[in-house]
Amino acid sequence: MAEPLIFCENLIKIYQIGDLEVLALQGLEFSVNTGEMVGIVGVSGSGKTTLLNVLGGLVRPSAGQVIINGHHLLKLSDHALNRYRRTEVGFVWQQGARNLIPYLSALENVQFPMTLGGTFGREARERAKSLLEMVGLAERMDHYLQALSGGEQQRVAIAVALANNPSLLLADEPTGELDSVTAQTIYDALRELNRQLGLTILIVSHDPQLARQVDRVVAIRDGKTATETVRAQQKTGAENDDSEVEQFEELTMLDSAGRLQLPKSYREALHIGDRVQMELRDDGVVIRPVRREQRGTEETAVSPPASPSTKNETQSPRRPWLRWWRR
Ligand code: ADP
Ligand code: MG
Repeated sequence: MAEPLIFCENLIKIYQIGDLEVLALQGLEFSVNTGEMVGIVGVSGSGKTTLLNVLGGLVRPSAGQVIINGHHLLKLSDHALNRYRRTEVGFVWQQGARNLIPYLSALENVQFPMTLGGTFGREARERAKSLLEMVGLAERMDHYLQALSGGEQQRVAIAVALANNPSLLLADEPTGELDSVTAQTIYDALRELNRQLGLTILIVSHDPQLARQVDRVVAIRDGKTATETVRAQQKTGAENDDSEVEQFEELTMLDSAGRLQLPKSYREALHIGDRVQMELRDDGVVIRPVRREQRGTEETAVSPPASPSTKNETQSPRRPWLRWWRR
C-alpha cells in the first residue's frame, strides 16, 4: 500500500502556561491518504485546532511522530518548518476575512501569495482565475472584500490557501459562521477542488451533517482519535428497488498498541470504574463491568499473607491442591 500523506503516531502536545501544563494531544494516532477529504469533530477543547496547527507546522508537537509528505515535522529545523508551512499546506480559518486583504480584489487576493512564492504576471493571473472558477466565483473575480458575501469571502479564502499549490488543505471550522445553505456552497467548493486537483483536505466542523460531505469523519476525544464514521452504501432492501440508501457506520479506533477508549457515557451508564471484565468470544469481545462481590473476592485473593507462617505454600488458601499434593 502507498504511504499515507499524513501519518501521526503517539502524538503529544503539552502547552506550558507558567507552572500549569495542558495536555492537548495525548498520544493521538491518525493517518490520511493522498486525495482523501476527512472531517474532524470533537467537543470544544478536545484538541482539534491543536492537531491542525501541528499538521500545518504552526505549533511544534512535544513528542511522537508526524510525517507529512515525507517531512518528519519533529525533526525539521525552524527554517525547514517555515518552508514546509509555505509550500506544503494551505489554511482556511473560520472568519473568511482573516484570510483576505480588504483593499485587493478577489483575483488580486489569490495572486498575492503567488508573488511571495515567486510566481508573477500572466502565469499567476491564469492560475488565480482557474482557482476562483473552481470555487464557483468566476463572476466575482474583480469584486472587493466588502462587495462579497460571507460565503463568497470564504471561497476566496480557499482559493488564496491554494495559491501556492499545497499538497494539503487544512480548514478549521470554515463554515462556523455561515448558515447551512451557505455552508453547503463551501463544502461543494472543497469537494470540487478535492476532485479536480486530487487535493487532500481536512475539515474541522461542528456540523452534525459533516459525514455526508466528506469521505470519513474522525472524532477526537481528550486529545486522542476515538471513533471514525464511514459511509456504508446499502441497498434499500425493498423488492424491485436497486437504488441505494446512504448509511453511516461508526467504528471505534484502536491505537497501534491496541488501546481503545470507553466513552464516558458508557462508563457512567454501567457504573464502570477503572476495571472491566473482557471476554473473547467467537464473534467478538465482550466488555462487562466488574460486579461488586466479584471485586471483593478478587481483592481477598490477591491480598498479601497475614503472617509470616502463611508463606508456607502448603497453607496458602489460594492453592488448596498443593495441600492435597503434599499430604
Ligand atoms: P479544540 O479546537 O478542539 O476546541 P484546542 O486544540 O483549541 O481544542 O485546545 C485543546 C486544549 O489545549 C484545551 O484545553 C485548550 O485550552 C488548550 N490550549 C489550546 N491552545 C493553547 C495555547 N496556545 N496555550 C495553552 N493552552 C492551549
Ligand atoms: Mg478549535
